[in-house]
Amino acid sequence: MKTSELNQPNAVRCCGRCKRVLPLEEFYVNSRTQRPDPYCKDCRRTMNRERHRAKSQESKSRRRSPVITQVADRDERLRLIRQALATVEEHHRRRLARLREQEEDLYPF
Ligand SMILES: [Zn+2]
Repeated sequence: MKTSELNQPNAVRCCGRCKRVLPLEEFYVNSRTQRPDPYCKDCRRTMNRERHRAKSQESKSRRRSPVITQVADRDERLRLIRQALATVEEHHRRRLARLREQEEDLYPF
């Protein structure tokens, strides 16, 4: 679309999403390129909302620790398994050390 078309009072444009033919006022104009958006304002709003929702969902799920069996990458999965095993081992080691200390306190001889 040429810039001159924007000045036409009855110019219409077909939305690339909902396929409705709408007047140019129903489209946002890209401030950088001065070209009308390929999607109408309604669709753009819907798309922004969906993208925002997807993003916040994404960051929410990222906050949880990953489910190891659902990690697609094999090396990453192995790394996570090793990490988890190391954590468990460390936990047991500390617990054992604590129990031994308690035992020594109870039975000093
Ligand atoms: Zn649309």
